[in-house]
Amino acid sequence: MAKHGTPHADRIKASILILDNGCWQWQNALDPAGYGRINVRNRNARAHRISYEAFVGPIPDGLTLDHLCKNRACVNPAHLEPVTLVENIRRGTSPSAKNTVKTHCLQGHEFTEANTYWAKNGYRQCRTCRRQYARRYEATRCRTRRKRAMMRK
Ligand SMILES: [Zn+2]
Ligand SMILES: [Zn+2]
Repeated sequence: MAKHGTPHADRIKASILILDNGCWQWQNALDPAGYGRINVRNRNARAHRISYEAFVGPIPDGLTLDHLCKNRACVNPAHLEPVTLVENIRRGTSPSAKNTVKTHCLQGHEFTEANTYWAKNGYRQCRTCRRQYARRYEATRCRTRRKRAMMRK
């Protein structure tokens, strides 16, 4: 497990410029999305992830690091928060956010504040559709009940 003072930590400290807002601006290569790159064990890795692991600890499984400062080239572990990918997309900071966050549901209802339902798993649902599904479900249930009642006669 990486800990304080590892070679990675030293390499990171040697590759940054500390900005006025506290961001550790990566001074080496950036990838097309604007994230810092670092070579670790002959692999090209994202510098902010390596920085987090070097100064804080392992990133929990399945979690991604969200830049609280919205500066992708920043590798300051204090500006990084492990979140679920869903949460990261919801915050609109991931590169795929623009594609994932649609303004309308599949049925074309707008995702306004009032029309958006956030399920516990972070999944977004359209309230209008939910209402329609519920109504349809009720209708089917009534029909089945009636059918059953008829069969009993
Ligand atoms: Zn920052
Ligand atoms: Zn809808």
